Amino acid sequence: MSLHEECGVFGAYASAPCDLASLSYYALYALQHRGQESCGLVMRTPAGFVSHKDVGLVGDVFSAQTLQGFPSATAAVGHTRYGTTGGSGRRNCQPIEVHHCGGDLALAHNGNLANAAALRAALERNGAIFHTSSDTETIAYLITRERLHAPSLVEAVSRVMLQLEGAYSLVILSDHRLLCVRDPHGFRPLCYGCTPDGTWLVASESCAIRAAGGSVLRDLQPGEILVFDETGCTSHREHCSSQAKTTCIFEYIYFARPDSVIDGVSVHEARIRAGEALAKAHPVDADLVIGVPDSGVAAALGYSAASGIPYGIGLMKNNYVGRTFIAPDGRLDKVRIKLSAIESVVRGRRLVLIDDSIVRGTTSGRIVRLLREAGAKEIHLRISAPPFLHPCYYGTDIDSEEHLIASRRTPEEIAAMIGVESLGYLPVSALPSLIGGHAYCDACFSGRYPTAVAPNTRKDQFE
Ligand code: AMP
Repeated sequence: MSLHEECGVFGAYASAPCDLASLSYYALYALQHRGQESCGLVMRTPAGFVSHKDVGLVGDVFSAQTLQGFPSATAAVGHTRYGTTGGSGRRNCQPIEVHHCGGDLALAHNGNLANAAALRAALERNGAIFHTSSDTETIAYLITRERLHAPSLVEAVSRVMLQLEGAYSLVILSDHRLLCVRDPHGFRPLCYGCTPDGTWLVASESCAIRAAGGSVLRDLQPGEILVFDETGCTSHREHCSSQAKTTCIFEYIYFARPDSVIDGVSVHEARIRAGEALAKAHPVDADLVIGVPDSGVAAALGYSAASGIPYGIGLMKNNYVGRTFIAPDGRLDKVRIKLSAIESVVRGRRLVLIDDSIVRGTTSGRIVRLLREAGAKEIHLRISAPPFLHPCYYGTDIDSEEHLIASRRTPEEIAAMIGVESLGYLPVSALPSLIGGHAYCDACFSGRYPTAVAPNTRKDQFE
């Protein structure tokens, strides 16, 4: 079971067989930031499902030869996975495929069920055997079982939604249809669009729709089921408004790509507003504002604009590495591989350094060391998120409280540990200004969870 599945999902539906492999490749590449552990693609071809999935990055898993080997297809479902819960091995690669007398399914999931343990235990007690440690398999199992009695696949999915609690943006491929589902809280993003030649596209983020050559039509409403089949696109809204909307605010702060628009709000603009709010909450006398690439840069621009302190590029990112946090563990200092300071910019300067978050505190300390080595005179760290005080049960990799530095230390203690002159976090009260009045989930900052949460939430509970 993946309690922290920060993933990317994608789907495509065409009315006649065509080259969906290239289009899916573009989309999966654009969703790489949502997960770098494994990726996969299942296509529906005239001869049945064809799939390819493996651990690794999109560019490695899908070689030119693999792509050319895909036959023409009428529908596709794809996934990029960052499962910090459940093993990272091949068996947890998605999309999950189910071959069953009731019909075949391929399913890709972003999010985390808060009641996965109870659902899985109930299924196992009734004889179910699971092959993965991912909660996505639980969803696939429930849909397959429900499908035996329901009048249609959409009705089966709708009935299963009544049993699921937590975060799920799903793309489901069947023999005849492509279904997309956003959970009634709308925790994770999901939007859809269309290419000029009429191929329907659905993706976790709008950047993937555009990368695949489509235009975005809109986000799915929380609770909505969209069905693509030979009659076109149909929306089912019986679960809409059944729950309060609580989209993950951290999607805007860190997780999503800045060129994506989620529920009508540009991620880039939200980050700029976070920087502006940070400047108001924690002003400081300094010479230059710099951002930690990539997610700290927009907030640094906002801080600079609101404070009048010039913005500069003080840190360079090596383009050949992925997100530090996600990279495999080892003895190496990953920050030193990923970032370097531009000495001519930072030497002798009093810096405002903007980053998006502090989890355990390791990354910031290492960045500060790089800047000191390059001659920075003062470093005032400003974080464009509030302190992480509580774990996330809906798919963001926020660890248990004992690993969250802010739950054990005051900002002054953290500043001393990291080695900065001052430290200021975005106040929780500033979060609404980021996304202009949309409702959101901030449980990792506030401890207010929008659903019940099962007591056992260990990342490896099904390993
Ligand atoms: P740490 O060294 O544990 O304090 O890690 C902080 C860094 O991890 C920040 O610079 C963030 O950009 C990044 N980060 C924070 N939360 C997450 C997350 N849920 N998934 C991946 N990376 C994250």
